[in-house]
Amino acid sequence: MRVEIIGCSGSVMKGFNTTSILVNGSLLIDAGSAASLIGDRNILDIKDILLTHSHIDHIKDLPFILESIFSTNKGYIDIWASQRTVDTLKDHVFNGLIWPDAQELMGEQGHRLGFKVMDGGSRHVIQDIHVQALEANHIPGAMSYVFEEEGKSIFFSGDTTYTEGILEYLKSIGDGLKACFIETSFPDRMEDLAKKSRHLTPSMAWEWIGTGIHGDVRVIAYHIKPWYLDEVIADLPDGMEYIIGGEVFEF
Ligand SMILES: [Zn+2]
Ligand SMILES: [Zn+2]
Repeated sequence: MRVEIIGCSGSVMKGFNTTSILVNGSLLIDAGSAASLIGDRNILDIKDILLTHSHIDHIKDLPFILESIFSTNKGYIDIWASQRTVDTLKDHVFNGLIWPDAQELMGEQGHRLGFKVMDGGSRHVIQDIHVQALEANHIPGAMSYVFEEEGKSIFFSGDTTYTEGILEYLKSIGDGLKACFIETSFPDRMEDLAKKSRHLTPSMAWEWIGTGIHGDVRVIAYHIKPWYLDEVIADLPDGMEYIIGGEVFEF
């Protein structure tokens, strides 16, 4: 499984882009920054977008990705998310005021935009990848995902704070679990704010996943708020890596 980190910061600042992770070149997790960073030609290879939740740092580029497809003669795309996230997008983004009703416009042009609902606990096969959706503890409708291909599983937390059920699921995977991408938004000194906003600090992330998972699993911090990057890096426990965007992994 090829995992390209297009952007993975918890906010926008010069040199830092919000979350978009491209898997195998054609499946995108979150649409925080993809339109402006993936080349015009390659963006048309994206056939499925999985959204973790509706916060703007995860959907910011969605209208422009759809417009790229809408502006060509070919194309279809499916957006996978919880019912709550789909409803939020339709009510508050694609409502004719913030942006046109993309589904209707694309349909009129012979394209297909599909909204596919994923409930927490549901499992789907998307482009030969087995995707397990898990309910995250962030805002209503937030999801975490586990991708499994050729016996290797990768966990993408999305935005979340402690979620006991997720740890139990990850433990059940056993040796097949190769990496956990864990949101780590704030430094340890801001634990109160992290808890209130349902995010994690390095110590919280490590206590939750790092010490809970055994075996040869890479634990990788992402979604770091750029203003606190140096502090978060300094707080990372031994054994926890971090990414800031631009990295490519092969699992
Ligand atoms: Zn976020
Ligand atoms: Zn969020």
